[in-house]
Amino acid sequence: MSAKIIDGKKVAGITRDEVRQDVEDWLDAGNRPPFLQVLLVGNDPASNVYVGAKTRACKEVGIETDTHRLPDTVSAKELKKTIHRFNDDDSIDGILVQLPLPSHLSSHDVIEAIDHKKDVDGFHPMNVGRLTVGQPSFRSCTPAGIFELFKYYSIPTKGKHAVVVGASNIVGRPISIMLSKEDSEGKATTTICHKYTKDLTAHTISADILIVAAGQPNLVKGEMVKEGVVVVDVGINRVADETKEKGYTLVGDCHFESVQEKASWITPVPGGVGPMTVAMLMKNTLLAAKRSIYPE
Ligand code: NDP
Repeated sequence: MSAKIIDGKKVAGITRDEVRQDVEDWLDAGNRPPFLQVLLVGNDPASNVYVGAKTRACKEVGIETDTHRLPDTVSAKELKKTIHRFNDDDSIDGILVQLPLPSHLSSHDVIEAIDHKKDVDGFHPMNVGRLTVGQPSFRSCTPAGIFELFKYYSIPTKGKHAVVVGASNIVGRPISIMLSKEDSEGKATTTICHKYTKDLTAHTISADILIVAAGQPNLVKGEMVKEGVVVVDVGINRVADETKEKGYTLVGDCHFESVQEKASWITPVPGGVGPMTVAMLMKNTLLAAKRSIYPE
């Protein structure tokens, strides 16, 4: 079997077109444009790239945005004061603090300082908790994007065995919750693996759906998966490559060549999950502007 490609770039384009149309309708109805406030601490090159991609996408769909930069020496108190100011500003619909933060700052504390009604990343404990108990919430963008891909390609999850490799609060854990949900989506039997999982292959080999979000290049190889598995490779890893102008190549967490020989569907890296994450941020910002999740 040679896997069919789950084209995240294409589906993200469709999603962004839909958001652009919805924003137009929203403006035609006499509303102001949605506004996303980004907070960027320090000068991490990868964070700069991600923020650049997000703000470009905003402009493309008609969402207004501003990036507030703070030095990497900023105190937790100062950072939270800035967030509280954004919370109180009615012209700001969504707030995004770009992660990771410098090591002296606790991302938990900082995320909790964001008004959950403006938490368009879906990381606030209120949103994660509401997701867990099936209440309307902002859903973390990467897992939400993966579900959009399943929907677009009519890939069923109901009754399947879904295995998630990685248990972070931003990808592994929320996608495992969404996959295991008994109500509107998911309905899969879900296994979640992490660094302390003994014999990872024993789990990955039984997966009908395999989500890999560990940040480890080539962690999952062909011999670790069964024929026909659907593979979603979330990992984005920079691997040194002298033949490339930038000096590196982007690879996922799966060894693409060997895994795609056995899979029925697979996401490429780049061009798989990444573009969906940005598209879902646009969608969440529009939901925030419309007060759709938390009506006033
Ligand atoms: P984290 O480092 O926060 O979490 C990684 C998780 O993987 C942890 O739970 C860790 O276990 C687990 N893990 C690490 N090594 C292994 C291993 N050898 N076997 C099993 N589990 C392992 O990363 P993120 O969740 O933030 O990101 C994961 C990857 O996804 C990264 O490459 C990141 O760049 C990418 N990413 C891509 C996005 C996209 O839009 N495509 C969005 C967000 C992230 P433990 O809990 O025990 O430490």
